[in-house]
Amino acid sequence: MRRTTEILPLRCGTLRAPGKMLERGAQGDFTLPVYAFLIIHASGRAAVFDAGLAPSDHGQVSFEAFHNELPAGHDVAARVAAAGIEPGRIEALVLSHTHYDHVGGAPLLPNARVLVHRREELRTLDAAHDMLLVDETHDVFGDGSVQVFATPGHTCGHQSLRVFREGGADVLAGDACYFCRSLDHEEVDQPFPFDKAQYVATKRRLAAMRARGDFVVPGHDERFLDQIPPGSAVRATALSRL
Ligand SMILES: [Zn+2]
Repeated sequence: MRRTTEILPLRCGTLRAPGKMLERGAQGDFTLPVYAFLIIHASGRAAVFDAGLAPSDHGQVSFEAFHNELPAGHDVAARVAAAGIEPGRIEALVLSHTHYDHVGGAPLLPNARVLVHRREELRTLDAAHDMLLVDETHDVFGDGSVQVFATPGHTCGHQSLRVFREGGADVLAGDACYFCRSLDHEEVDQPFPFDKAQYVATKRRLAAMRARGDFVVPGHDERFLDQIPPGSAVRATALSRL
């Protein structure tokens, strides 16, 4: 039995898109990492936060702007298996939101109960999963150590995950915060949030968590891998990178 809960970032592909679609005033193209996060609870039980791209997304262009790449063996199930966990053992898949780069791998985790916010758009989800509609918070393992909490704004039902540890927490922000730098500015840096006021209020809340010592992991910026603080449950491995 493990003594502490671990978070393994799993790199599940890449997006390339015009920067101006992702950050106000940006020039040129951005190349964005796509992540799923494997949460291995201290008891050995396992969950995943976000599922990355679908294998069928590889080589596709979405919304006429997003070029998707998912190399063979980088889908969420292959990454989870490479991390030593049988994908059928994943009991919960927490979705930050239902954009395609976060739900694509969901069918590859067949036994996971999908935890999605009640207000989120559900049409992109496959119907095969047991689903739990979350209100504002949810306790994933029932012991208070891993908590889903609502972070609306990017989408109306966006949610993040807080993993408590000695001295603080690790916060998987999803697309409430695209980049490490996103929390350094209070204004709306995303060009197309669903709700600007909620988006800014959520960023303030995440910035306050960071100011109190939490480690906030952004949705699409690999630089967090070089900023993991001592004591964090986040463990970067070769699976965290391309
Ligand atoms: Zn995204």
